[in-house]
Parts: sequence; C-alpha cells; structure tokens
Amino acid sequence: MKLDTKYMRYITQEDWKVLTAVEMLSKNHEVVPTKLIGQQSHLGGSTARSISALAKIGLIARLRNAKYDGYRLTYGGLDYLALHTHNNKSAVYSVGNQIGVGKESDIFVVASPTGRQLVLKIHRLGRISFRTVKANRDYLRNKQGGSWMYMSRLAALKEYAFLVALREHNFPVPEPIAQSRHTLVMSLIDAFPMRQIASVPDPASLYAELIAMILRLAQYGLIHGDFNEFNILVEEKPDPAAKGGVALTPILIDFPQMVSVDHANAEYYFDRDVNCIKRFFKRRFQFTPTEAGPHFADARKLIGKDGAVRLDVNVEASGFSRKQAKELEAYMKSVGVDGDGDPNATRADLEEDANGDGDDDEEESDFVEEEEPEAKPVAKKVWADDVEFTTDR
Ligand code: ADP
Ligand code: MG
Repeated sequence: MKLDTKYMRYITQEDWKVLTAVEMLSKNHEVVPTKLIGQQSHLGGSTARSISALAKIGLIARLRNAKYDGYRLTYGGLDYLALHTHNNKSAVYSVGNQIGVGKESDIFVVASPTGRQLVLKIHRLGRISFRTVKANRDYLRNKQGGSWMYMSRLAALKEYAFLVALREHNFPVPEPIAQSRHTLVMSLIDAFPMRQIASVPDPASLYAELIAMILRLAQYGLIHGDFNEFNILVEEKPDPAAKGGVALTPILIDFPQMVSVDHANAEYYFDRDVNCIKRFFKRRFQFTPTEAGPHFADARKLIGKDGAVRLDVNVEASGFSRKQAKELEAYMKSVGVDGDGDPNATRADLEEDANGDGDDDEEESDFVEEEEPEAKPVAKKVWADDVEFTTDR
C-alpha cells in the first residue's frame, strides 16, 4: 500500500490528539466507540470535527453494527502517527521514493532535517496473510492484542533492537536512527542487493566473508534466519589492492526473524543460512567451496569466544522480551512468512489491499464499513516526489 503523506501538513493539533486517542483505545477495542474517543482526547466539542477530518483522509475508518458505531485505526493512520513522531523527534523531515516492497514491509527513502538520506522501513504484517490464509485471521482474532498492528509493531521493535545491538558490536549493518510503532529509521546503504550483482572479481573472498559473518553472528549467540542474496547489500569501493580493483563490503539487513543459537530449531536455521549462500554462489558465480560446512556444531563452539557477549540474551534484556519474541515467531510461522530465501516465497502475490489497512475480514465481521466521500483537494498540489511535511506541533 502507498504511503501518501500529502495530508500531513493539514492535520491540526486536535486531529493528532483524536488520532492518538483512537490508537490508544484500539488496544482494547476492535472498534472504538465514538463516545470514548471524545473522552480520551479531552477535546469536547471539536472531537467530531476532527473525527470527520481524519475519516475523510482515511486515517480512521468508520464501522457500525447493530449495537454501536465507532472507528478503527487504518494502516494509513498508524503510518501518520509514526511519521509524526519521527518528525517531532527530528528523525525524519521528508519522505521520498519507495525503494522496496518486501513481502511484509515497505521501504522508503526519507531525509533528516539536515538533508541526510535515510531509510524508513514500515512493517506490514498481515498484508498478505489476511488475504490468503483464513487460519491466520482466526489465529490473530483469537489472540489477545494479536492484531496486524500489534504484530507489525513487534517486528519493528525486534528489528530495531537487533540493529542497535549488532551495530554496537561492529557488525556491518545500517546505523539505527529511530523507531516508532511499526516503523524504523536507519541509514541508507548505497549499494545493491547481492541478488542484482551479475559477477564479482573474486567470489571466493566474498563467500569467505559471508560465511565469516554467519559464524561471527553465532559467536554472539545469533542466527540471522534469512541470510540470503536479498538481505545482503554489497558496497563497492575502488581499491587498487583488491582483485579487479574493487573492494566489496557486504552489509546485512532485515532482522525480524533473527533467532538465538539456543532456539529449538537453531541447527535448521543455521544450515539454511549457510546453504542459501552456497546455492547462490554456485548458481550466480559458478563458485563451489572446497570445504564442506560450516556445520552448526562448529558454530556452537564459537559461542562467547574471545569474550563475545550473548546478543540474544542482551536484546531480551533490552526491551524485546521472550514473550514478545514467541508471539512474533508464532505469527510468522503461522502465516508462512519465513524468509525471502524460502524457495516457495513469492512476491507476485503481493496484492494491494483495497482498504489499505491490511485487514480483510469484512466478510466475517458483523461490522459494516461506512463509505467515506472522496476527500476534496484542500489546496493545489504543490508536492513533487519528495514530499516535505510540516506538522502542527
Ligand atoms: P523485507 O523484510 O520486506 O525483506 P528488507 O529489510 O529486506 O525488507 O528490505 C527490502 C529491500 O529494501 C532490500 O532488499 C533492499 O533492497 C532495500 N533496503 C532495505 N533497507 C535498506 C537500507 N538500509 N539501505 C538501502 N536499501 C535498503
Ligand atoms: Mg528482506
């Protein structure tokens, strides 16, 4: 789904309060009763005006059934809240082009107030799953708080926590900048995914570097779990000393599925990571290593070597709890979101959600979604691709 920031600058302080109130109340209400929104936002009479303004631009959606009517936050509404926070904290000043569409995420280039180019990753768990697998909807509905919003937030929280930890220990990963709700902001890596690289001057040394990275992760207690040509960006720098005159530096991204070396299926994930790289090097670069392995047993011996700290343990202590990790993992497993490297993974089934909110359970809910009239253009369009937004603080 799109991230349309064009209404950002027209949202008033009252509107933000109302939107925040709907977000807060969504934690306990599938549909937030209109009456409660007024109470929560402490705005009295002007609540109705804000509700109507927000509904017009699709940040909240009106639903009603026999008993009461109310609103729910849409993905668009959650996007705006996250951007508003990033803006207030001076992490993001403007939003540019979309550079990536993952199975369950959208990636945008954004700029900081000083003009530094950054990446905004928006997690959209449930986008495909709701549509394709009925069991998932039931799964999520029966889970307390287990909504698309909650799961997307967990994915962003987890990814950010690992990014911070890895960066702190000098792993080649983007620099973490900020996190809010289902989004995170990180540095932009000026490089192509390995997937897009046709040939390299010295496959053996790049291969060795990637295997060393897998082993170093294990030394720190971690298995990436989706270590493949989509999630490795290869930086190229001229270097007369390197073979072919270019030095290649692999940068690792995409961490929501990271697991501990103590995970019950650790060996499976470890082998899969190693084999993904082997398969790719053979197919793309016609390179086959002379040695077998590395095997998980070898990797296990490295855990904690040279005083390496256990990042799996640290991250758990730093705010992404074991309970949250389990919830996210159960969700990812249930919907089959298990890595780009999965031969069964397909990006072609990435359909636009007509509602734009990732929630496709109308046919089973007794709530009826109200059609909102098309939003009228508020002013002449002055935005180009790179949309700068100012907000009413
Ligand atoms: P997903 O979980 O959907 O696979 P990723 O984090 O792997 O999301 O990002 C999808 C794509 O977006 C990547 O393959 C890469 O091309 C691009 N991308 C993501 N993060 C960055 C970054 N920090 N710098 C540059 N490109 C990025
Ligand atoms: Mg990826």
